[in-house]
Amino acid sequence: MPEPVIGLEIHLAIRVDTKMFCGCAAESFGSEPNVHTCPVCLGLPGSLPVTNREAIEKAVLFSLALHCRVPELTQFHRKHYFYPDAPKNYQISQYDRPVGEHGWVELDGGRRIGITRCHVEEDAGRLAHPPYADHSLVDFNRAGAPLIEMVTEPDLRTPEEARAFLAQVQAVARALGVSDASPEQGKMRADVNVSLRNPDGSLGTKVEVKNLNSFKSVAAAIAFEVRRQGALLEDGREVAQETRGWNEGGQRTYLLRSKEESADYRYMPDPDLPPLTLEPAWLDDLRARMPELPAARRERYLALGLKPADAEALALDLEAAAFFDAATEAYAGSAQTVANWLTGDIAGLLNAGGRSLAEAPLRPEGLAAMLRLLDDGTISGKIAKEILPEVLEGEGPEALVARKGLTQITDEGALAELVERVMQANPAVVASARENPKAINALLGKVMQESRGTARPDAVRRLLQDRLATPGSD
Ligand code: ADP
Ligand code: ZN
Ligand code: MG
Repeated sequence: MPEPVIGLEIHLAIRVDTKMFCGCAAESFGSEPNVHTCPVCLGLPGSLPVTNREAIEKAVLFSLALHCRVPELTQFHRKHYFYPDAPKNYQISQYDRPVGEHGWVELDGGRRIGITRCHVEEDAGRLAHPPYADHSLVDFNRAGAPLIEMVTEPDLRTPEEARAFLAQVQAVARALGVSDASPEQGKMRADVNVSLRNPDGSLGTKVEVKNLNSFKSVAAAIAFEVRRQGALLEDGREVAQETRGWNEGGQRTYLLRSKEESADYRYMPDPDLPPLTLEPAWLDDLRARMPELPAARRERYLALGLKPADAEALALDLEAAAFFDAATEAYAGSAQTVANWLTGDIAGLLNAGGRSLAEAPLRPEGLAAMLRLLDDGTISGKIAKEILPEVLEGEGPEALVARKGLTQITDEGALAELVERVMQANPAVVASARENPKAINALLGKVMQESRGTARPDAVRRLLQDRLATPGSD
């Protein structure tokens, strides 16, 4: 089987208030069609674009985080093509002076994936094709919304690697506040390029699969293309250079366009938009304001002693990481214990309720308080799991335990009394436990039941063993 070679082109919607070159709202999710429009984003004659400074700043910040070289001068070009979702008949994009070039992203295994470039461009409108109608509709709300397009080198090798890469890019974009990077809202979209390496080691003919809107489809489309191209080659046939689409229902790619001529977009510098100078002092300022990125966070978690899988999962989830950090600080105990609860029982309850951590009333201090009750022996692990659903709803663990009388019985006298009572009530079980040491578990179970889980099992076992070893004492 020849080696798969994969490169990605990713579009991220930049999180800003207004569009790239006008004052219309950039966010139009859920709006009526064509309400966020003006002469600039509709491409009316005589209108002039003005560059959104914040969008540039975010794209540069993102480029820096991906270790790109950021030039002193960046510039916008017109990319000409005719399509009904592009009102100007050109798209303002970048050409030979993008905001970032030659960067990389390091995967968890340590392998670096090259970033060819990051550039800023405007989004297109949206076409709708009403069923059974003799016309199509166009909505320009999204036209002119700011995007970052990032292109990778053909460095990825497997569907899983592509998926891990996307998760990493998403986490970086979110950590920086550059983009919501939510594929389900169309704020992170990917095209994938797939080929199989030639026997002589050179790159094979690539196929591009357009417009994938989930990480899962990216992985599935790559896996499908690797199989399809592999079968063609095995048959002694050739892979044709083509652009394909993804059929989600059928989990297969299909032909969109074959044998593409490289399009002539007649790129030209946009005469309405002067090149932008990116001052070194401004870049230094951005670098200094760079928040902790997922890769650094993962290292920090590994240093705290977290298992690699937990360190990775938490590092990629901004919300969970913030919660984890606050809970770990408030608890001042084992970080792995906090991670275990977060990724185990708490994640389970949240999943079951279809909620995220941020949507639950639980605060980091609440989890820390419960863990301290566990550590100092006030409650057992079993009780902790029992009260967790209420703790998740924001109940204070101390008050909850006190109100429900769930404090662990640590008083030896009270415990001995309880053991005595259970033994008196179950003479047959006591007799069999004297014969067979394993039967002690039946008594232990009864004591635990009687205490509603508030007895310490190890202490009960010790007391039972003592009492059973003293003949005639019952
Ligand atoms: P095009 O000119 O067709 O747009 P580019 O060279 O700009 O091609 O590359 C577009 C994307 O395709 C990049 O992500 C790049 O890494 C990837 N790519 C290029 N060649 C290959 C190949 N042989 N196999 C897989 N991906 C490739
Ligand atoms: Zn506008
Ligand atoms: Mg290209």
